[in-house]
Amino acid sequence: MNGLSEAKTIRRLVLTGLLVVGGSVIASVVCTHISFMDGSANPIFYRDAMFFAVLIPLLIAPVAYGYIAWLTWRLHHTYAELEVMAHTDALTGLPNRRAFVEDMEGRLRRAEDNVLVFAMVDLDHFKRINDSMGHATGDLALRHAAEVLRDSAPAGSVVARLGGEEFAVLLAQAPDSACGTEPEAQLDVMRQRLADLPLIVPGGVVRMTASFGMAVPLPGEALDSLLRRADSALYRAKADGRNRVTRAA
Ligand code: GH3
Ligand code: MG
Ligand code: MG
Repeated sequence: MNGLSEAKTIRRLVLTGLLVVGGSVIASVVCTHISFMDGSANPIFYRDAMFFAVLIPLLIAPVAYGYIAWLTWRLHHTYAELEVMAHTDALTGLPNRRAFVEDMEGRLRRAEDNVLVFAMVDLDHFKRINDSMGHATGDLALRHAAEVLRDSAPAGSVVARLGGEEFAVLLAQAPDSACGTEPEAQLDVMRQRLADLPLIVPGGVVRMTASFGMAVPLPGEALDSLLRRADSALYRAKADGRNRVTRAA
């Protein structure tokens, strides 16, 4: 929930509270007064009744108001949790396609000073893992690949799961980056790490490699076009024998 809608909710809550307290006091006073209007009642009894007509709503209102505040807080909390879930891949815990696309679109729109490098990553012959070791082991392999990619990505980069056995990497580097390593080399470190780190499962060892299609956004380029170029670079990486990083033309 953004700050603006939170501010609105709080304003509404305060107004509601004031209306509840004010309304209850006025209603109680009016009702009490009407019930004593014939003047036959004892004036002391009338004064005490008026006193309680004010006091009781004032005591009840904070409880009702607190309850409304608590419900609103719960609502905010649930909303925040739903927001996180809607942007997270349930299997790997990585940002999902939606989160990645939103992030990328924002970065491309802002035309950041950072040099952006995008790579589409696809695990090689992943179907064979499912076929030979079962879908559950396939899931473990996906989590393992996600962990290795995330842990071997340079600081400040984003790794997301686009879906299936496809991942995305975004390297965001300052133009005068001190490390000076070429993005291809950085992606190659990730590729090599995945190839070097097998997953040990009760039934055996799962070895994995991945192909990377890399593209650097052109000035003013839309996300669709960038994804298409990265995808065709990935296609070439597969055609050239897999387990490699290929740069888009
Ligand atoms: P290539 O090297 O050409 O990419 O071959 P591949 O076998 O990786 O590609 P293909 O598209 O033929 O198969 C992808 C497989 O990934 C098929 C599908 O069952 C599997 N897969 C997709 N999502 C999941 C998932 O969430 N869990 C598991 N276990 N498997 C998945
Ligand atoms: Mg695929
Ligand atoms: Mg694949």
